[in-house]
Amino acid sequence: MSEESLLDNALVRLDAAAAHLNIDPDVIEKLKFPRETTKVRLMIRMDDGSRKSFLAWRCRYDDTRGPTKGGIRFHPEADVDEVETLAFWMTFKCAVMNLPYGGGKGAVQVDPRTLSKAELERLSRAYMQAFARIIGPDRDIPAPDVYTNSMIMGWMADEYAQIVGRAEPAVITGKPIALGGSLGRGDATARGGFYLVRHLAEDLGLSKSMRVAVQGFGNAGQHIARLLVGDGHKVVAVSDSSGAVYSKEGLHVDVLLEAKANGKPVSSTAGQGGHELIDAKDLVGVDCDLLVPAALENMIHSKNAKTVKAKLVLELANGPVTPEADALLAESGVVVLPDILANAGGVTVSYFEWVQNRQGYYWTEEEIHDRLRTITEREGRAIWNVSREKDVTMRTAAYVHALGRLAEAIEAHGTQSFFTS
Ligand code: GLU
Repeated sequence: MSEESLLDNALVRLDAAAAHLNIDPDVIEKLKFPRETTKVRLMIRMDDGSRKSFLAWRCRYDDTRGPTKGGIRFHPEADVDEVETLAFWMTFKCAVMNLPYGGGKGAVQVDPRTLSKAELERLSRAYMQAFARIIGPDRDIPAPDVYTNSMIMGWMADEYAQIVGRAEPAVITGKPIALGGSLGRGDATARGGFYLVRHLAEDLGLSKSMRVAVQGFGNAGQHIARLLVGDGHKVVAVSDSSGAVYSKEGLHVDVLLEAKANGKPVSSTAGQGGHELIDAKDLVGVDCDLLVPAALENMIHSKNAKTVKAKLVLELANGPVTPEADALLAESGVVVLPDILANAGGVTVSYFEWVQNRQGYYWTEEEIHDRLRTITEREGRAIWNVSREKDVTMRTAAYVHALGRLAEAIEAHGTQSFFTS
């Protein structure tokens, strides 16, 4: 494994947390490596009759606390290191929120925007065919991630039902409502982060009207912009993979949402309502109070961390801040609400979906929101307290909080268990 591997970087956070807990070194040894990663080559028929193959993975990082849980990403740059790191983060995220799950993740190395809808469906079904042996409601439960959505989850759920010969909705979450999806799953990632910021606003000394910059305008970015504007804040900058727009007076989020709904980039709104084009690379350093990275890993790094003007960073993406940038941000007094807490709303409502599927009784949207808020505030407060008591960053506090739970579970399995072998 190279020095720069994403997993090596992620493990830096594990070591930082371990230094604050008196736990058996065996626990750390166990959490340093994924339990199993399966790689396959998916072959599908393209619309023109040709056959094409795509690399795909599923990683079950750790299942000590329950079946592995985590999304499936479709991305041209996906690789095994990224999948394993994302699965490591899921392990800690589920422990942070006290969900009865371990951590997993999957990916297909593909740019889904180059596929027709029929090709995308064949690829999604091929993924489920390849991994059905290791997936299951008590074993490994996928969900959406970058460039996958409820439609894809629906196809995968349907494929799994055909393979096992019965409906098994709890095998995958983030499904369409018509196939047993949960109300409130669509905006859950952003909503969890929103509740967290609101809950800690007083402790963090946040103003009632913040200027916000959002990097990445996909599922998480769009919903957080909408929720924050609805709460009296102003979104001054937004970027997506093809550009960025800025307005000192506040962008018109409804205009941005409409552009995205029509398949257009945020830059297409330039010129409307005072929206100015800016370089997407400059978004991180925009003058604002709250910066929300909601795109991919490593977006805030050693070269741009010192340009951050925000006082608070809410990590809706997984792994957007490198360990070097963490140190630089802390030096500048910037508080980072870490991914494994800040974006855990998604997997928390996935958990609600799985529970509803298994009990066959469905909750109202209000019940979902209440339960999500209760868990977010409970765990957010506990992590805030750890960070005060130990005088550590919110990230280290979140890892300490999760690691305590993981260690307890590893020990409870006993030394002769398959789970601790
Ligand atoms: N992909 C999301 C994440 O990274 C959600 C995972 C899930 O719902 O299982 O947290």
